[in-house]
Parts: sequence; structure tokens; C-alpha cells
Amino acid sequence: MRFDVVSLWPEMLEPYVSYGTLWAAQERELIEVHLHRLETFSQQGRPVVDDRPFGGGAGMVMRPEPFARAIDAVRAEAGTKPLTVLLSAQGVRLEQQLAKDLARERALTLLAGRYEGVDERVASLCDVELSIGDYVLAGGEVAAAVVLEVVARMVPGVVGRYESASTDSFFAGPLLGHPQYTRPRTFRNMKVPRVLMSGDHEKIRRWRAVEAWRKILRCRPDLAGLRQPPAR
Ligand code: SAM
Repeated sequence: MRFDVVSLWPEMLEPYVSYGTLWAAQERELIEVHLHRLETFSQQGRPVVDDRPFGGGAGMVMRPEPFARAIDAVRAEAGTKPLTVLLSAQGVRLEQQLAKDLARERALTLLAGRYEGVDERVASLCDVELSIGDYVLAGGEVAAAVVLEVVARMVPGVVGRYESASTDSFFAGPLLGHPQYTRPRTFRNMKVPRVLMSGDHEKIRRWRAVEAWRKILRCRPDLAGLRQPPAR
């Protein structure tokens, strides 16, 4: 699968895609990541990507032309029509199921905004506006990194053992993964539950199912249709 990210500061993403799962997936040619500098697509000799908002107000708004040119250039380079995503706090919220759906695309182009946001006309050039949560970041680069990683993990083969993704939280709907333990067996007087060392796989499976539900009730009761307690 091909990912293109268009950003004012693509170097923010370079280190991110150079480690761990994303790096390994590129090495194994399961994904390709192309980072593009928005300024490259501004008008010749006029590297201006933002301007004052019509109607007044604080801050600067990102102009539409560089994004439009970037979309066209990526399309030509990719030789296909990627699904084009405008990263925006106002978009549909990214969830695991949506990530699975996006991972079926051949190519995804992510447009990262900055400042007060992006001229609204860019949204109509895109297939979807996508948010990573109901809060506002200073820019779309962190959102691009989140989308890239979440979607790439759903590309077949990217997560080494499929089982390790399929037991993750949210993989099979609004459920959490079970608690995990490793060595040492005792840490600061807290012991690893004995059942996990019993070798009885059926008992372990049942224990994990119960504990996953306990965790839902403790941390995310909203997933069980209960009220979320106020954050401490
Ligand atoms: N004025 C905008 C608003 O009210 O939604 C916020 C602009 S924000 C400071 C600048 C850029 O950060 C946005 O254009 C978008 O690309 C990115 N961004 C901020 N929050 C985001 C979120 N929750 N999800 C995805 N992208 C986000």
C-alpha cells in the first residue's frame, strides 16, 4: 500500500517512519511512504502557502492551490487515484474499523494543515475529512503519523503475527485486549496471576476474557453502555 503525506514540515515525519513497525513494513515492501513538502507545490517563485482569512479574524489560513497541485502531482506519480484525506479536527473520527477499511485502499494521500486550518475548498477536493480525536492539534503531522501507523498495521503482513493484532483492543469491535504480564513473576510485591503459569490454555482463555471485561468496566465503561466516570 502506498502512503503520501503532504505537509509544511515533512521532516517532522521522517524520524517517525524510520523506526519500528513502519520501518520494517517499508523494508519488506508491504508499504511505501512518500513525504512531500507543501511549498514545492506553491506558485513558481512565490513560496506562499498561507494568507489572511476573508472576513477577518486571527491567524492565517492555508491557501488551496498548493494542496490542489500536490493532490494532482501525487496522483500522477502514483499512477492511480489515491483516496485523499484531509486531516482535520472537524472530520469523521478515526476508529479501528475505519482503519481496517482504509487499509483496503491501494493508496492513501494525507494532507496536513497548520495555522488556523486549510481553505474549505480543499475539503471538496478530498474524499474524506479525518480527525484523530475531538481536540485540536497545532498541525496535521501528528495526525498523519497516527493515521499512517494505525492503517499500516491493518495491511496484511505488517504485524508479524496476525494473532497479535487480532487480540488488540478494538480489533473485534468495542472491546479491550486482555491484561498482559511478563517477567519478573513478582514486582514490588505484585504477583503475576497464577493461572497464566498453569499451562491450562482453556483456563487462561477464560481468565483473559473475564479480565478484559473487568478492564472495560474499570477504564472504559462507556463501551459497555455505562457512564464514563470523570477523569481524575
Ligand atoms: N481552526 C481549526 C478548527 O477549528 O478545527 C483548527 C486548525 S489546527 C490548529 C491546524 C491543523 O491541524 C488542521 O488543519 C489539521 O490538519 C490539524 N489537526 C488539528 N487537530 C486535528 C485532529 N484532531 N485530527 C486531525 N487533524 C487535526
